Amino acid sequence: MCYSIAIDGPSGAGKSTIADALAKRLGILHLDTGAMYRAIALKTIRLGIDFNDENTISKVLQDTEIDVKFENGLQMIFLDGENVNSQIRVHEISQAAAKISTLNSVRTVLANAQRNIAQKYNMVVDGRDIGTNVLPCAKYKFFLTADDNIRAERRYQELKSRGQEIDFETVLNDIKQRDQMDTTREFSPLKRAEDAVLIDSSNLTPLQVVDTMLSHIKELL
Ligand code: C5P
Repeated sequence: MCYSIAIDGPSGAGKSTIADALAKRLGILHLDTGAMYRAIALKTIRLGIDFNDENTISKVLQDTEIDVKFENGLQMIFLDGENVNSQIRVHEISQAAAKISTLNSVRTVLANAQRNIAQKYNMVVDGRDIGTNVLPCAKYKFFLTADDNIRAERRYQELKSRGQEIDFETVLNDIKQRDQMDTTREFSPLKRAEDAVLIDSSNLTPLQVVDTMLSHIKELL
């Protein structure tokens, strides 16, 4: 039987970085579920579909293949056979992903796909609803958060390092808007699972966060 470690939390809390580092320390894979929402957002944009048009989006989903593969431990996301890893990390896709992720049909398809993947490997799985909805029986659950301004600063630095021109205020507003959408949506909103360990990473380095997690995960080492 495979085991999963769920890491949920708001945008910019450092989930991906931490999940990557934790998976490496444990010698297992990391599934970034946000990338799957981003891939569907990319397709929606390419086809020019309104983000609220659930009917059309759910029809398109029936003909859409979202594949996750791991190459040397790194996650690659394929949209209808095309590797879209480098196209989904832009501001426009972040916003679109937050919008289409409110749709129940999108969430149902992706949650099932995520469960299928998690059955095959030992994994650290990061997202918004992993501990509450996708893998409620995950072996360990963490809820990672940080102060709004710190999360925005981290995201701002990340986007800048990828060569994107964007100002801090735009990133901060985007983070606040996404928090609002993620926490208030009807279907599996972002919230801490009752049995998730809460970690505030505002004043912690990534290494300190991973060490805190590992101190809760002693028996897998
Ligand atoms: O984590 P990331 O920022 O890449 O996720 C993009 C968007 O996808 C989030 O803003 C969130 O709305 C949505 N998402 C979700 N459930 C997940 C992962 C991501 O709703 N498990």
